[in-house]
Amino acid sequence: MKGLMQDWQLTTNKILEHAKRINPTREIVTRRVEGNIERTTYGDLFDMSKQVSTALQDEGIGLGDRVATLGWNSERHMASWYGAMGIGAVLHTVNPRLHPEQIAWIINHAEDKVLIFDKTFLPIVEAIKDNIPTVKSFVIYAGADTMPENTLGAVPFDIWIDGRSQNVRWGDFPEDTACGLCYTSGTTGDPKGVLYSHRSNVLHTMITMQRDAIGMGANDVVLPVVPMFHANAWGLTFSCPATGANMVMPGAQMDGASIYELLDTEKVTITAAVPTVWLMLLTYLQENDLKLPHLNKVIIGGSAVPEKILRAFEEDYEVDVVHAWGMTETSPLGTLGTLPPHMLDADIDTRMAQKLKQGRPPFGVELKIVDDEHNDVAWDGETSGRLLVRGPGIAAAYFKGAGGKVVDEDNWFDTGDVANMDQYGTMQITDRAKDVIKSGGEWISSIDIENIAVGHPKVANAAAIGVYHPKWDERPLLIIQPVEGETPSKEEIFAALEGKIAKWWTPDDITFVDNIPLGATGKINKLALRDTFKDYKLPTA
Ligand code: AMP
Repeated sequence: MKGLMQDWQLTTNKILEHAKRINPTREIVTRRVEGNIERTTYGDLFDMSKQVSTALQDEGIGLGDRVATLGWNSERHMASWYGAMGIGAVLHTVNPRLHPEQIAWIINHAEDKVLIFDKTFLPIVEAIKDNIPTVKSFVIYAGADTMPENTLGAVPFDIWIDGRSQNVRWGDFPEDTACGLCYTSGTTGDPKGVLYSHRSNVLHTMITMQRDAIGMGANDVVLPVVPMFHANAWGLTFSCPATGANMVMPGAQMDGASIYELLDTEKVTITAAVPTVWLMLLTYLQENDLKLPHLNKVIIGGSAVPEKILRAFEEDYEVDVVHAWGMTETSPLGTLGTLPPHMLDADIDTRMAQKLKQGRPPFGVELKIVDDEHNDVAWDGETSGRLLVRGPGIAAAYFKGAGGKVVDEDNWFDTGDVANMDQYGTMQITDRAKDVIKSGGEWISSIDIENIAVGHPKVANAAAIGVYHPKWDERPLLIIQPVEGETPSKEEIFAALEGKIAKWWTPDDITFVDNIPLGATGKINKLALRDTFKDYKLPTA
Protein backbone atom coordinates (compact mmCIF):
# COMPACT_ATOMS: atom_id res chain seq x y z
CA MET A 1 0.00 0.00 0.00
CA LYS A 2 1.32 3.45 -0.84
CA GLY A 3 1.10 6.44 1.46
CA LEU A 4 -1.23 9.21 0.45
CA MET A 5 1.01 12.21 0.87
CA GLN A 6 1.97 14.78 -1.74
CA ASP A 7 4.77 14.34 -4.22
CA TRP A 8 6.81 17.50 -3.52
CA GLN A 9 9.93 17.19 -5.65
CA LEU A 10 13.14 18.17 -3.88
CA THR A 11 14.52 20.77 -6.31
CA THR A 12 16.86 23.57 -5.23
CA ASN A 13 14.70 26.36 -6.71
CA LYS A 14 12.26 25.68 -3.84
CA ILE A 15 14.94 26.94 -1.41
CA LEU A 16 15.10 30.37 -3.01
CA GLU A 17 11.33 30.48 -3.56
CA HIS A 18 10.91 29.91 0.18
CA ALA A 19 13.45 32.67 0.99
CA LYS A 20 11.65 35.09 -1.35
CA ARG A 21 8.27 34.40 0.26
CA ILE A 22 9.22 34.08 3.94
CA ASN A 23 12.45 36.06 4.38
CA PRO A 24 12.52 38.49 1.43
CA THR A 25 14.23 41.30 3.34
CA ARG A 26 17.04 39.21 4.86
CA GLU A 27 20.33 40.28 3.34
CA ILE A 28 23.34 39.13 1.38
CA VAL A 29 26.18 41.55 2.02
CA THR A 30 29.05 41.28 -0.48
CA ARG A 31 32.50 42.80 -0.55
CA ARG A 32 33.01 43.54 -4.23
CA VAL A 33 36.38 42.89 -5.87
CA GLU A 34 36.55 46.69 -6.18
CA GLY A 35 36.45 46.82 -2.34
CA ASN A 36 33.05 48.45 -1.74
CA ILE A 37 30.20 46.75 0.14
CA GLU A 38 27.03 45.84 -1.76
CA ARG A 39 23.77 44.96 0.03
CA THR A 40 21.15 42.73 -1.59
CA THR A 41 18.12 40.87 -0.19
CA TYR A 42 16.83 37.35 -0.81
CA GLY A 43 13.95 39.05 -2.62
CA ASP A 44 16.42 40.77 -4.97
CA LEU A 45 18.43 37.55 -5.34
CA PHE A 46 15.31 35.72 -6.48
CA ASP A 47 14.62 38.35 -9.15
CA MET A 48 18.26 38.37 -10.31
CA SER A 49 18.34 34.57 -10.50
CA LYS A 50 15.20 34.49 -12.64
CA GLN A 51 16.86 36.98 -14.99
CA VAL A 52 19.97 34.79 -15.14
CA SER A 53 17.71 31.87 -16.15
CA THR A 54 16.25 33.89 -19.01
CA ALA A 55 19.69 35.13 -20.08
CA LEU A 56 20.94 31.53 -20.14
CA GLN A 57 17.93 30.34 -22.09
CA ASP A 58 18.56 33.13 -24.59
CA GLU A 59 22.09 31.69 -24.96
CA GLY A 60 20.49 28.32 -25.80
CA ILE A 61 21.19 26.77 -22.39
CA GLY A 62 18.72 24.16 -21.16
CA LEU A 63 18.37 20.91 -19.27
CA GLY A 64 21.71 19.23 -18.56
CA ASP A 65 23.90 21.95 -20.14
CA ARG A 66 26.91 22.92 -18.05
CA VAL A 67 27.47 26.53 -16.97
CA ALA A 68 30.85 27.23 -15.37
CA THR A 69 31.82 29.87 -12.84
CA LEU A 70 35.24 31.07 -11.68
CA GLY A 71 34.05 33.23 -8.87
CA TRP A 72 34.51 34.54 -5.36
CA ASN A 73 31.62 34.36 -2.93
CA SER A 74 29.12 37.03 -3.93
CA GLU A 75 25.42 37.58 -4.51
CA ARG A 76 26.04 37.65 -8.30
CA HIS A 77 27.69 34.23 -8.02
CA MET A 78 24.68 32.96 -6.06
CA ALA A 79 22.30 34.32 -8.71
CA SER A 80 24.25 32.36 -11.33
CA TRP A 81 23.78 29.18 -9.28
CA TYR A 82 20.06 29.52 -8.74
CA GLY A 83 19.53 30.84 -12.26
CA ALA A 84 21.27 27.85 -13.88
CA MET A 85 19.92 25.23 -11.48
CA GLY A 86 16.34 26.50 -11.72
CA ILE A 87 16.12 25.64 -15.43
CA GLY A 88 17.82 22.26 -14.99
CA ALA A 89 21.24 23.38 -16.23
CA VAL A 90 24.28 22.16 -14.24
CA LEU A 91 26.25 24.81 -12.36
CA HIS A 92 29.93 23.91 -12.49
CA THR A 93 32.10 25.72 -9.94
CA VAL A 94 35.70 25.74 -11.16
CA ASN A 95 38.47 26.24 -8.60
CA PRO A 96 40.47 29.29 -9.78
CA ARG A 97 43.44 28.26 -7.63
CA LEU A 98 44.28 25.42 -10.00
CA HIS A 99 46.93 25.77 -12.70
CA PRO A 100 45.41 27.33 -15.88
CA GLU A 101 46.12 24.13 -17.84
CA GLN A 102 44.13 22.13 -15.31
CA ILE A 103 41.32 24.67 -15.40
CA ALA A 104 41.17 24.24 -19.19
CA TRP A 105 41.24 20.44 -18.81
CA ILE A 106 38.33 20.54 -16.37
CA ILE A 107 36.27 22.94 -18.52
CA ASN A 108 36.82 20.69 -21.54
CA HIS A 109 35.94 17.56 -19.61
CA ALA A 110 32.75 19.18 -18.34
CA GLU A 111 32.02 20.65 -21.83
CA ASP A 112 30.97 23.93 -20.26
CA LYS A 113 29.06 26.22 -22.63
CA VAL A 114 29.04 29.48 -20.68
CA LEU A 115 31.79 30.78 -18.39
CA ILE A 116 30.89 33.44 -15.84
CA PHE A 117 33.82 34.82 -13.82
CA ASP A 118 35.22 37.50 -11.56
CA LYS A 119 37.56 39.96 -13.23
CA THR A 120 40.35 38.82 -10.91
CA PHE A 121 40.50 35.75 -13.13
CA LEU A 122 40.51 37.54 -16.49
CA PRO A 123 44.24 36.78 -17.08
CA ILE A 124 43.56 33.05 -16.59
CA VAL A 125 40.58 33.06 -18.95
CA GLU A 126 42.47 35.11 -21.55
CA ALA A 127 45.34 32.59 -21.34
CA ILE A 128 43.14 29.51 -21.93
CA LYS A 129 40.45 30.97 -24.20
CA ASP A 130 41.74 29.24 -27.35
CA ASN A 131 41.87 25.86 -25.59
CA ILE A 132 38.27 25.73 -24.34
CA PRO A 133 36.26 25.39 -27.57
CA THR A 134 32.98 24.34 -25.91
CA VAL A 135 32.65 27.73 -24.19
CA LYS A 136 30.54 29.95 -26.44
CA SER A 137 29.90 32.91 -24.14
CA PHE A 138 31.86 34.74 -21.48
CA VAL A 139 30.26 36.88 -18.78
CA ILE A 140 32.20 38.94 -16.22
CA TYR A 141 30.85 39.79 -12.75
CA ALA A 142 30.83 43.54 -13.34
CA GLY A 143 28.62 46.48 -14.20
CA ALA A 144 29.02 48.67 -17.28
CA ASP A 145 31.24 51.05 -15.27
CA THR A 146 33.48 48.37 -13.74
CA MET A 147 33.93 46.20 -16.83
CA PRO A 148 37.57 45.46 -17.71
CA GLU A 149 38.85 45.53 -21.28
CA ASN A 150 39.14 42.04 -22.73
CA THR A 151 39.58 40.13 -25.97
CA LEU A 152 36.88 37.57 -25.18
CA GLY A 153 33.83 39.50 -26.35
CA ALA A 154 32.65 39.15 -22.75
CA VAL A 155 29.61 41.01 -21.44
CA PRO A 156 29.19 42.56 -17.95
CA PHE A 157 26.94 40.41 -15.75
CA ASP A 158 24.70 43.33 -14.72
CA ILE A 159 24.04 44.26 -18.36
CA TRP A 160 23.64 40.60 -19.34
CA ILE A 161 20.68 40.17 -16.96
CA ASP A 162 19.33 43.73 -17.08
CA GLY A 163 15.70 43.97 -18.19
CA ARG A 164 15.36 40.22 -18.79
CA SER A 165 12.01 38.57 -18.11
CA GLN A 166 11.39 36.95 -14.73
CA ASN A 167 8.61 34.75 -16.09
CA VAL A 168 10.81 31.74 -16.61
CA ARG A 169 9.53 28.44 -15.19
CA TRP A 170 11.71 26.76 -12.55
CA GLY A 171 11.92 23.18 -11.33
CA ASP A 172 10.10 21.61 -14.23
CA PHE A 173 12.06 18.34 -14.01
CA PRO A 174 12.49 15.35 -11.67
CA GLU A 175 14.38 15.80 -8.38
CA ASP A 176 17.19 13.44 -9.44
CA THR A 177 18.15 15.85 -12.26
CA ALA A 178 21.81 16.93 -12.17
CA CYS A 179 22.25 20.31 -10.53
CA GLY A 180 25.89 21.02 -9.67
CA LEU A 181 29.32 19.81 -10.70
CA CYS A 182 32.54 20.11 -8.71
CA TYR A 183 35.89 18.47 -9.56
CA THR A 184 38.11 16.90 -6.98
CA SER A 185 41.73 15.81 -7.34
CA GLY A 186 42.31 12.23 -6.40
CA THR A 187 45.37 10.02 -6.08
CA THR A 188 45.42 8.82 -9.64
CA GLY A 189 45.80 11.25 -12.48
CA ASP A 190 43.02 13.49 -13.65
CA PRO A 191 40.49 15.37 -11.51
CA LYS A 192 37.10 13.67 -11.17
CA GLY A 193 33.71 15.39 -11.33
CA VAL A 194 31.20 15.01 -8.51
CA LEU A 195 27.74 15.53 -10.01
CA TYR A 196 25.21 16.62 -7.38
CA SER A 197 21.49 16.23 -7.99
CA HIS A 198 18.73 18.59 -6.87
CA ARG A 199 17.57 15.91 -4.44
CA SER A 200 21.05 15.40 -2.96
CA ASN A 201 21.56 19.14 -2.47
CA VAL A 202 18.14 19.65 -0.86
CA LEU A 203 18.61 16.68 1.47
CA HIS A 204 22.17 17.78 2.35
CA THR A 205 20.70 21.20 3.17
CA MET A 206 18.14 19.65 5.51
CA ILE A 207 20.82 17.44 7.08
CA THR A 208 23.09 20.41 7.81
CA MET A 209 20.24 22.48 9.28
CA GLN A 210 20.05 20.06 12.25
CA ARG A 211 21.10 21.69 15.52
CA ASP A 212 23.99 19.28 16.05
CA ALA A 213 25.21 20.03 12.53
CA ILE A 214 25.33 23.76 11.65
CA GLY A 215 21.83 24.48 12.88
CA MET A 216 21.50 28.11 11.86
CA GLY A 217 18.24 30.07 12.02
CA ALA A 218 16.65 33.18 10.54
CA ASN A 219 18.29 35.35 13.22
CA ASP A 220 21.81 34.27 12.33
CA VAL A 221 24.32 36.17 10.24
CA VAL A 222 26.58 33.72 8.43
CA LEU A 223 29.95 34.50 6.87
CA PRO A 224 31.13 31.72 4.53
CA VAL A 225 34.84 32.34 4.09
CA VAL A 226 34.95 28.87 2.55
CA PRO A 227 34.62 29.52 -1.18
CA MET A 228 31.61 28.47 -3.23
CA PHE A 229 34.08 26.51 -5.42
CA HIS A 230 35.11 24.41 -2.40
CA ALA A 231 32.26 21.88 -2.28
CA ASN A 232 29.40 24.40 -2.42
CA ALA A 233 30.77 26.55 0.42
CA TRP A 234 29.95 23.55 2.60
CA GLY A 235 26.30 23.90 1.61
CA LEU A 236 25.88 27.39 3.12
CA THR A 237 24.64 28.88 -0.15
CA PHE A 238 21.65 26.55 0.25
CA SER A 239 21.16 26.39 4.03
CA CYS A 240 21.29 30.18 4.57
CA PRO A 241 18.45 31.03 2.16
CA ALA A 242 16.58 27.93 3.39
CA THR A 243 16.60 29.29 6.94
CA GLY A 244 16.58 33.01 6.16
CA ALA A 245 19.98 33.64 7.77
CA ASN A 246 21.75 36.76 6.50
CA MET A 247 24.87 36.02 4.45
CA VAL A 248 28.10 38.01 4.43
CA MET A 249 30.26 37.31 1.37
CA PRO A 250 33.94 38.23 1.62
CA GLY A 251 34.67 38.42 -2.13
CA ALA A 252 38.39 38.25 -2.84
CA GLN A 253 39.62 39.55 0.55
CA MET A 254 40.21 36.79 3.06
CA ASP A 255 43.08 38.22 5.14
CA GLY A 256 42.71 38.61 8.92
CA ALA A 257 41.91 42.34 8.86
CA SER A 258 39.24 42.08 6.14
CA ILE A 259 37.53 39.10 7.75
CA TYR A 260 37.59 40.78 11.17
CA GLU A 261 36.05 43.94 9.74
CA LEU A 262 33.11 41.96 8.31
CA LEU A 263 32.68 39.86 11.48
CA ASP A 264 32.50 43.06 13.50
CA THR A 265 30.51 45.47 11.35
CA GLU A 266 27.97 42.87 10.18
CA LYS A 267 27.68 41.24 13.65
CA VAL A 268 28.34 37.78 12.24
CA THR A 269 27.15 34.90 14.46
CA ILE A 270 28.38 31.87 12.45
CA THR A 271 31.38 31.56 10.14
CA ALA A 272 33.15 28.72 8.32
CA ALA A 273 36.57 28.13 6.76
CA VAL A 274 39.69 25.95 6.66
CA PRO A 275 42.20 26.27 9.56
CA THR A 276 44.63 28.51 7.63
CA VAL A 277 42.09 31.35 7.47
CA TRP A 278 41.56 31.18 11.23
CA LEU A 279 45.25 31.33 11.91
CA MET A 280 45.40 34.64 9.99
CA LEU A 281 42.37 35.99 11.87
CA LEU A 282 43.65 34.95 15.30
CA THR A 283 47.04 36.54 14.65
CA TYR A 284 45.30 39.77 13.64
CA LEU A 285 43.08 39.71 16.74
CA GLN A 286 46.03 39.13 19.05
CA GLU A 287 48.21 41.81 17.45
CA ASN A 288 45.43 44.38 17.70
CA ASP A 289 43.92 43.31 21.03
CA LEU A 290 40.47 42.75 19.53
CA LYS A 291 37.51 40.61 20.65
CA LEU A 292 34.69 38.77 18.87
CA PRO A 293 31.58 39.79 20.84
CA HIS A 294 29.00 38.72 18.23
CA LEU A 295 30.44 35.44 16.97
CA ASN A 296 28.87 32.28 18.47
CA LYS A 297 30.15 29.49 16.28
CA VAL A 298 33.01 28.78 13.90
CA ILE A 299 32.87 25.76 11.61
CA ILE A 300 36.39 24.51 10.84
CA GLY A 301 37.08 21.73 8.37
CA GLY A 302 38.88 20.68 5.21
CA SER A 303 41.81 19.52 7.30
CA ALA A 304 42.26 18.72 10.97
CA VAL A 305 41.89 21.62 13.43
CA PRO A 306 45.15 22.37 15.25
CA GLU A 307 44.78 22.52 19.04
CA LYS A 308 46.16 26.06 19.11
CA ILE A 309 43.28 27.34 16.98
CA LEU A 310 40.66 25.34 18.87
CA ARG A 311 41.78 26.61 22.27
CA ALA A 312 42.19 30.21 21.14
CA PHE A 313 38.60 30.38 19.88
CA GLU A 314 37.11 28.51 22.83
CA GLU A 315 39.17 29.90 25.71
CA ASP A 316 40.26 33.39 24.60
CA TYR A 317 37.23 34.42 22.54
CA GLU A 318 34.43 32.18 23.91
CA VAL A 319 33.46 31.00 20.44
CA ASP A 320 32.11 27.47 20.00
CA VAL A 321 34.31 25.53 17.56
CA VAL A 322 32.55 22.93 15.41
CA HIS A 323 35.21 20.74 13.85
CA ALA A 324 33.81 19.25 10.63
CA TRP A 325 34.96 16.50 8.30
CA GLY A 326 33.74 16.02 4.77
CA MET A 327 34.66 15.66 1.13
CA THR A 328 33.52 17.05 -2.20
CA GLU A 329 32.00 13.57 -2.68
CA THR A 330 29.91 13.93 0.49
CA SER A 331 28.23 17.26 -0.51
CA PRO A 332 30.42 17.89 1.67
CA LEU A 333 29.48 17.69 5.36
CA GLY A 334 29.94 14.21 6.84
CA THR A 335 30.61 14.69 10.55
CA LEU A 336 30.44 17.69 12.89
CA GLY A 337 31.91 18.07 16.34
CA THR A 338 29.21 19.56 18.55
CA LEU A 339 29.64 18.19 22.07
CA PRO A 340 27.64 15.01 22.75
CA PRO A 341 25.52 14.86 25.93
CA HIS A 342 27.98 12.72 27.91
CA MET A 343 30.66 15.40 27.45
CA LEU A 344 28.73 18.47 28.61
CA ASP A 345 29.99 18.36 32.19
CA ALA A 346 33.50 17.14 31.35
CA ASP A 347 36.52 19.29 32.24
CA ILE A 348 37.97 21.64 29.65
CA ASP A 349 40.84 19.33 28.60
CA THR A 350 38.45 16.41 27.99
CA ARG A 351 36.12 18.65 26.00
CA MET A 352 39.00 20.02 23.92
CA ALA A 353 40.27 16.47 23.23
CA GLN A 354 36.75 15.56 22.05
CA LYS A 355 36.64 18.61 19.76
CA LEU A 356 39.96 17.75 18.15
CA LYS A 357 38.23 14.65 16.78
CA GLN A 358 36.23 15.10 13.59
CA GLY A 359 32.80 14.72 15.22
CA ARG A 360 29.62 12.72 14.79
CA PRO A 361 27.50 12.15 11.67
CA PRO A 362 24.14 13.94 11.63
CA PHE A 363 21.01 11.97 10.67
CA GLY A 364 21.32 11.30 6.94
CA VAL A 365 24.98 10.29 6.95
CA GLU A 366 25.98 6.69 7.72
CA LEU A 367 29.58 5.80 8.55
CA LYS A 368 31.45 2.59 9.03
CA ILE A 369 35.08 1.58 9.47
CA VAL A 370 36.45 -1.58 7.91
CA ASP A 371 39.73 -3.46 7.97
CA ASP A 372 41.61 -4.63 4.86
CA GLU A 373 39.25 -7.63 4.54
CA HIS A 374 36.25 -5.25 4.54
CA ASN A 375 35.09 -6.43 7.99
CA ASP A 376 33.69 -3.91 10.45
CA VAL A 377 36.13 -2.90 13.17
CA ALA A 378 35.11 -2.27 16.78
CA TRP A 379 33.87 1.21 17.69
CA ASP A 380 36.28 1.48 20.60
CA GLY A 381 37.87 4.83 19.80
CA GLU A 382 41.16 3.11 19.00
CA THR A 383 40.94 0.60 16.18
CA SER A 384 41.58 2.33 12.85
CA GLY A 385 40.40 1.23 9.43
CA ARG A 386 39.14 2.64 6.15
CA LEU A 387 36.29 5.05 6.57
CA LEU A 388 33.22 4.25 4.42
CA VAL A 389 30.20 6.52 4.04
CA ARG A 390 26.66 6.19 2.72
CA GLY A 391 23.64 8.48 2.37
CA PRO A 392 21.51 10.60 0.04
CA GLY A 393 24.27 13.24 -0.25
CA ILE A 394 27.10 10.81 -1.05
CA ALA A 395 28.45 10.26 -4.59
CA ALA A 396 27.51 6.97 -6.27
CA ALA A 397 29.84 7.52 -9.27
CA TYR A 398 31.96 10.25 -10.87
CA PHE A 399 30.96 12.28 -13.92
CA LYS A 400 31.37 10.33 -17.19
CA GLY A 401 32.28 7.21 -15.19
CA ALA A 402 35.77 8.45 -14.23
CA GLY A 403 37.48 6.10 -11.78
CA GLY A 404 35.04 3.24 -12.53
CA LYS A 405 32.93 1.80 -9.76
CA VAL A 406 33.32 3.77 -6.54
CA VAL A 407 30.75 2.16 -4.23
CA ASP A 408 30.48 -1.47 -3.08
CA GLU A 409 27.38 -3.66 -3.55
CA ASP A 410 25.77 -2.10 -0.46
CA ASN A 411 26.41 1.44 -1.72
CA TRP A 412 29.27 2.24 0.70
CA PHE A 413 31.69 4.86 -0.65
CA ASP A 414 35.34 4.44 0.36
CA THR A 415 36.59 7.86 1.48
CA GLY A 416 40.27 6.97 1.33
CA ASP A 417 40.57 8.26 4.88
CA VAL A 418 41.70 6.12 7.78
CA ALA A 419 39.74 6.64 10.99
CA ASN A 420 38.40 5.20 14.23
CA MET A 421 35.01 5.55 15.91
CA ASP A 422 34.10 5.50 19.58
CA GLN A 423 30.97 3.96 21.09
CA TYR A 424 29.16 7.33 20.93
CA GLY A 425 29.70 7.65 17.19
CA THR A 426 32.56 10.17 17.34
CA MET A 427 34.88 9.75 14.36
CA GLN A 428 38.58 10.56 14.39
CA ILE A 429 40.70 10.71 11.23
CA THR A 430 44.06 9.11 11.92
CA ASP A 431 45.62 9.08 8.50
CA ARG A 432 44.92 9.69 4.86
CA ALA A 433 45.13 6.78 2.48
CA LYS A 434 45.51 9.24 -0.34
CA ASP A 435 48.80 10.78 -1.31
CA VAL A 436 47.78 14.28 -2.23
CA ILE A 437 49.12 17.11 -0.10
CA LYS A 438 46.78 19.52 1.62
CA SER A 439 48.00 23.08 1.99
CA GLY A 440 45.67 25.62 3.58
CA GLY A 441 42.77 23.26 2.98
CA GLU A 442 43.46 22.95 -0.75
CA TRP A 443 44.84 19.91 -2.53
CA ILE A 444 48.25 19.87 -4.14
CA SER A 445 48.70 16.87 -6.39
CA SER A 446 51.91 15.06 -5.51
CA ILE A 447 51.71 13.17 -8.79
CA ASP A 448 51.92 16.32 -10.93
CA ILE A 449 55.00 17.53 -9.07
CA GLU A 450 56.64 14.10 -9.26
CA ASN A 451 55.92 13.67 -12.95
CA ILE A 452 57.65 16.93 -13.81
CA ALA A 453 60.62 16.21 -11.51
CA VAL A 454 61.08 12.73 -12.94
CA GLY A 455 61.15 14.34 -16.37
CA HIS A 456 64.51 15.92 -15.48
CA PRO A 457 67.42 13.95 -17.00
CA LYS A 458 69.34 13.80 -13.70
CA VAL A 459 66.37 12.44 -11.71
CA ALA A 460 65.74 8.68 -11.30
CA ASN A 461 62.72 8.88 -9.05
CA ALA A 462 60.82 11.57 -7.17
CA ALA A 463 58.25 11.69 -4.40
CA ALA A 464 56.35 14.70 -3.10
CA ILE A 465 54.93 14.44 0.39
CA GLY A 466 53.22 16.87 2.72
CA VAL A 467 55.16 17.83 5.80
CA TYR A 468 53.96 19.89 8.72
CA HIS A 469 53.84 23.65 8.29
CA PRO A 470 52.61 25.94 11.08
CA LYS A 471 50.65 28.23 8.77
CA TRP A 472 49.45 26.03 5.91
CA ASP A 473 49.11 22.82 7.93
CA GLU A 474 51.07 21.01 5.24
CA ARG A 475 53.47 22.05 2.49
CA PRO A 476 55.14 19.89 -0.14
CA LEU A 477 58.62 18.50 0.32
CA LEU A 478 60.12 17.00 -2.83
CA ILE A 479 62.36 13.99 -2.35
CA ILE A 480 64.68 13.19 -5.24
CA GLN A 481 66.59 10.04 -6.02
CA PRO A 482 69.25 11.11 -8.56
CA VAL A 483 70.34 9.03 -11.53
CA GLU A 484 73.49 7.14 -10.49
CA GLY A 485 76.60 9.28 -10.88
CA GLU A 486 74.58 12.54 -11.17
CA THR A 487 74.33 15.29 -8.54
CA PRO A 488 71.48 17.61 -9.56
CA SER A 489 71.15 20.86 -7.58
CA LYS A 490 67.97 22.15 -5.92
CA GLU A 491 68.05 25.11 -8.32
CA GLU A 492 67.99 22.82 -11.35
CA ILE A 493 64.92 20.98 -10.03
CA PHE A 494 63.10 24.21 -9.09
CA ALA A 495 63.83 25.52 -12.58
CA ALA A 496 62.28 22.38 -14.09
CA LEU A 497 59.07 22.93 -12.10
CA GLU A 498 58.75 26.63 -12.78
CA GLY A 499 55.74 27.60 -14.91
CA LYS A 500 54.50 24.03 -15.14
CA ILE A 501 52.55 24.05 -11.88
CA ALA A 502 50.72 26.75 -9.93
CA LYS A 503 53.21 28.84 -7.93
CA TRP A 504 51.75 27.80 -4.58
CA TRP A 505 52.24 24.15 -5.54
CA THR A 506 56.02 24.66 -5.68
CA PRO A 507 57.65 22.50 -2.99
CA ASP A 508 58.97 24.44 0.00
CA ASP A 509 62.13 22.38 -0.08
CA ILE A 510 63.93 19.65 -2.03
CA THR A 511 65.98 16.90 -0.47
CA PHE A 512 68.10 14.13 -2.03
CA VAL A 513 68.17 10.43 -1.05
CA ASP A 514 70.01 7.37 -2.42
CA ASN A 515 66.86 5.30 -2.61
CA ILE A 516 63.14 6.05 -2.65
CA PRO A 517 61.40 3.07 -0.99
CA LEU A 518 58.92 1.12 -3.13
CA GLY A 519 55.89 -0.86 -1.91
CA ALA A 520 54.68 -4.33 -2.93
CA THR A 521 53.15 -3.26 -6.22
CA GLY A 522 56.11 -1.13 -7.24
CA LYS A 523 54.49 2.12 -6.13
CA ILE A 524 56.41 4.61 -4.02
CA ASN A 525 55.92 3.81 -0.36
CA LYS A 526 54.71 7.18 0.85
CA LEU A 527 53.89 5.95 4.31
CA ALA A 528 57.53 5.03 4.84
CA LEU A 529 58.64 8.37 3.44
CA ARG A 530 56.21 10.32 5.61
CA ASP A 531 57.57 8.44 8.59
CA THR A 532 61.21 9.16 7.68
CA PHE A 533 60.50 12.86 7.14
CA LYS A 534 57.88 13.37 9.85
CA ASP A 535 60.09 15.75 11.81
CA TYR A 536 61.51 17.53 8.75
CA LYS A 537 61.69 21.25 9.29
CA LEU A 538 60.89 23.25 6.17
CA PRO A 539 62.90 26.45 5.69
CA THR A 540 59.55 28.31 5.39
CA ALA A 541 58.17 26.93 8.65
P1 AMP B 1 37.99 17.84 -0.33
O1 AMP B 1 37.17 16.96 -1.20
O2 AMP B 1 38.95 18.69 -1.08
O3 AMP B 1 37.14 18.62 0.60
O4 AMP B 1 38.94 16.90 0.57
C1 AMP B 1 38.39 15.90 1.39
C2 AMP B 1 39.46 15.32 2.27
O5 AMP B 1 40.01 16.30 3.13
C3 AMP B 1 38.97 14.22 3.19
O6 AMP B 1 38.87 12.97 2.54
C4 AMP B 1 40.04 14.24 4.27
O7 AMP B 1 41.19 13.52 3.88
C5 AMP B 1 40.40 15.71 4.37
N1 AMP B 1 39.64 16.35 5.47
C6 AMP B 1 38.52 17.09 5.39
N2 AMP B 1 38.14 17.54 6.60
C7 AMP B 1 39.04 17.07 7.49
C8 AMP B 1 39.20 17.17 8.91
N3 AMP B 1 38.36 17.87 9.66
N4 AMP B 1 40.26 16.55 9.47
C9 AMP B 1 41.14 15.83 8.73
N5 AMP B 1 41.04 15.71 7.38
C10 AMP B 1 40.01 16.31 6.76
